[in-house]
Amino acid sequence: MRSRPVAPGPTWAVPAPSWADALDRYTKFLQVPSWRASVRRTGQEMGLSPTDAKRLRDQMLAALGRVLGDRFQTTKPSSGHLVELWARRARSIPRSERCPSRLQVHFQRAFLLNAGGYTCAYCGRTAWGVYEEKCHGELPRTLRFEVDHRTTRGRLEDPSRFDPKNLVAACRSCNVVKGEMSPKRFLAELESLGNAVGQRRNQRRSNTYQPTPGQVRRSSPSGGARKPKRRR
Ligand SMILES: [Zn+2]
Repeated sequence: MRSRPVAPGPTWAVPAPSWADALDRYTKFLQVPSWRASVRRTGQEMGLSPTDAKRLRDQMLAALGRVLGDRFQTTKPSSGHLVELWARRARSIPRSERCPSRLQVHFQRAFLLNAGGYTCAYCGRTAWGVYEEKCHGELPRTLRFEVDHRTTRGRLEDPSRFDPKNLVAACRSCNVVKGEMSPKRFLAELESLGNAVGQRRNQRRSNTYQPTPGQVRRSSPSGGARKPKRRR
C-alpha cells in the first residue's frame, strides 16, 4: 500500500536556503495528489511515486553539479542559476555538461515555488491551505502549480529570450483564467470575481428563513400557529 505523502506545511512559506533543501520540498510536494481544472477520465489525480520522486531529485542534483559545480551547495538558489541551466540544455553540449531539457521545467517550478513560498502569485492560495480544506471523502489534495509568464510570450519583444524575472508560480485555476491578460488586468478580473462570489454567498445567507413578526406571534404557544414552511 502507498504510504501517505508528507504534506506541505506553513514552514514552506520561508524559502529553503539551499538547492538540496528546495528540491527536497519540491519532490515531497509532487507526491501529494493535486487539484487540476481538467480531472483525468478516471477522476484520479495521483502524485509522483516515492521512487520516481527520489529518482527525479537525484537527476536534478546531478544536473546542478554538472552546471554549477560546487556552487549549488554553497550559494542560495537564484534566478541566475536558472539562466545557467537554461543555457546548457542544447543537445550540442556534451552530455557531461548538459542539463536535460526535460528537467528545465522542474528546475523552474522548484525555484519559483521555493522563492514564492508555495503560494499562488495571483490568488494567494497556499499548497498547505488547500491541503487542509474539506475534500469530501477524497484524499487531501494540494494546488496544482504551473509556471506562468507574467507578460505572455505573445506580447514579448523577443519571445525566445529566457527571462526568469517574467516567471511566477501560479495555480492552475489562475493560469487558465489569466490566459493572455496582463497581470494588472487579471488581478482586476480576480477581484471582480471574488466580489461577485462574496455577494452571492451573502445573498444566500440572507435568504435563509427569517420569521416575520406576524409569524413569530402566531407560532407562540398562545397563538397555536402552524410551523412556517422552510424556504430555501
Ligand atoms: Zn491562484
